Amino acid sequence: MIKELVHDEAVLSTPCEPATAEDAGLAQDLVDTLASIDDAVCLAANQIGVTKAVIAYQDDKGGVHVMYNPKILMALGGAKVEESCLTHEEPVRVTRFAKIKVSFDELVDGELKARRRDYMGWTAQMIQHMVDHCKGKLV
Ligand SMILES: [Zn+2]
Repeated sequence: MIKELVHDEAVLSTPCEPATAEDAGLAQDLVDTLASIDDAVCLAANQIGVTKAVIAYQDDKGGVHVMYNPKILMALGGAKVEESCLTHEEPVRVTRFAKIKVSFDELVDGELKARRRDYMGWTAQMIQHMVDHCKGKLV
């Protein structure tokens, strides 16, 4: 279901609770909402008002991915970049890493399975932005 974006800083700055397999409906709402917004490439659950650690992002081929409980394990090659956010007015300069190792859970047949994967470039940058949202960190 498509949800309204939340701009309330009290919600956006609340660190997200761990997500479980029961948050599958929330994950679907994230995917639906992301698809409904022109030019949006990633969305965290607290941006639609639910403080659970679930994110969705679109890769450069248009495929949509959901991560439950993403955590950055390792990051290499930090650089300052300018970044904008759907739920924040002004673009800001932040340090992002070119290569990251991420642990997350993926929903498979109704159960969360732990995954670990490396990401680079643009996808790595989006995931870092989303992980910040999950921590309640506003860019
Ligand atoms: Zn954002």
